[in-house]
Amino acid sequence: MKQRMIIVVGPSGVGKSSFVDRAVQELPYLVDVITYTTRQMRPGESEGHPYHFVSQEEFSQLVENDFFVEWAHVHSNRYGTPRDQIVAAWDRGSGVIMDIDIQGARACINEFPQLLSIFIEPPSLEELRRRIEKRSEFLPKDFEIRMENAKKEIAAASEFDCRICNDDFAESFGEFKKIIEEYWQNG
Ligand code: 5GP
Repeated sequence: MKQRMIIVVGPSGVGKSSFVDRAVQELPYLVDVITYTTRQMRPGESEGHPYHFVSQEEFSQLVENDFFVEWAHVHSNRYGTPRDQIVAAWDRGSGVIMDIDIQGARACINEFPQLLSIFIEPPSLEELRRRIEKRSEFLPKDFEIRMENAKKEIAAASEFDCRICNDDFAESFGEFKKIIEEYWQNG
């Protein structure tokens, strides 16, 4: 059984979820892992889209039950990657793709060294700030924390297999898809 995994890393607001969503639409052998979080649902989100939303108590119970491959404090909340969805996808012959923070990415690289890691970077920090301000009707409560974390994440970009600058999405996605297709054929 091939255990193919793609992790998409990069600062909050850079567009990682758009890359993952489009990849799942265009590459039917990929499954998006629905991760777990303790953060509040935002308008337009619902259970399972894009997360399983759980309470602090439920999350702690899942940690105790060894349910997660990795989990981390990200910005002001906890997020965790469930092992069961990954194993189920591999059993069916699919590969998994997930959007994950840098701590989770390092843990996954350690546990699954065969994975493909793709870092999405913004054209600049100023452009990242502009995009987040423009796209949200309201700013995330922890917006400034996210911007501080973005600097640290960008500084760590060279740890990953590939880097793609999300300047023009259609063009960047083309590059992203090509890298995944090569990994799928050769991995
Ligand atoms: P947001 O709250 O904006 O949806 O996501 C915050 C960050 O959490 C994103 O950078 C995302 O990549 C990361 N994230 C989502 N799920 C997981 C997970 O299961 N584990 C880790 N370590 N990070 C995650």
